Amino acid sequence: MPLHVLAILNQPSADAAPHDPDAPAFTFADPSQPHLSVMDLGATRGDGIFESISVGSGRAQALEHHLRRFASSAAKLELPAPDLDVWREAILAAIVELEPGAESWVKTVLTRGVEGDGRPTGWVYAAHTADFSAARTEGVRVVTLDRGYRHDVEQTSPWLLAGAKTLSYAVNRAVLREAHRRDADDVIFVSSDGYVLEGPTSSVVFRRGNTLLTPGTGLGILDGTTQANIFRFAETLGLETGFELVTPDELRAADAAWLVSSVRLAAPVRELDGLPLAVDSEFTAALNDYLLALRD
Ligand code: PLP
Repeated sequence: MPLHVLAILNQPSADAAPHDPDAPAFTFADPSQPHLSVMDLGATRGDGIFESISVGSGRAQALEHHLRRFASSAAKLELPAPDLDVWREAILAAIVELEPGAESWVKTVLTRGVEGDGRPTGWVYAAHTADFSAARTEGVRVVTLDRGYRHDVEQTSPWLLAGAKTLSYAVNRAVLREAHRRDADDVIFVSSDGYVLEGPTSSVVFRRGNTLLTPGTGLGILDGTTQANIFRFAETLGLETGFELVTPDELRAADAAWLVSSVRLAAPVRELDGLPLAVDSEFTAALNDYLLALRD
């Protein structure tokens, strides 16, 4: 069985012409061979969007939420709307090609295509997941970094695309290098007016007493699929859930905090800006067991 799989979409959007009128909706290709044009705007400008989807128990998790977010990111970038039926079919077909039962992930990418061509480029790539057990059990050391935007940037300046999952992740990578320079593993972005936002590839969830909280929506951050699933799980345990805008000091006063995302799942924050934060190992293990066992 291959360890990674690529499906290239012939017509990623019903609003644009297919790449080949006689070809099927998507075709499998060798992921170790080059396929992308050097003139593709996804590569030359980061002009495109993506999703990363966990596959546990052989099933794509939070698939419909991811597809909704994919369509919402496309709308924010004014990309041709993805044909979600074709994307869903390609995602499910790619998963079938992987080793059954192995923890895996799927990435969907839609770019504006080759400059001047007018047809978007789209592909689905699936692979087995790296080992995240240390982050999931021992936790991560996190530093807060200023994102430079106010918490209401999404309303004041929608052209900055805050809250869209774009391919322009150079900043999200740069902040990890800054974290490493500060002897930390990960980052929580803070708005220029002082509120906790999200990680560069994760949502922030924290616990105060019997309530699980997250900063909320409309803050120029992603509407996290993992956070939504964790809240569903918490509610089945009788915990309260809610949205709250907090400062880094208020986050530090929480009983526990996690960076949560597809693929890595729930990583407890064991240190925030150099100060220790309690890790609730039992609850964290329950969260990750729940996330790994999700079947949709
Ligand atoms: N915020 C950002 C910036 C992300 O890149 C991600 C995931 O990649 C998340 C939040 C978490 O989203 P999800 O739980 O849907 O993976």
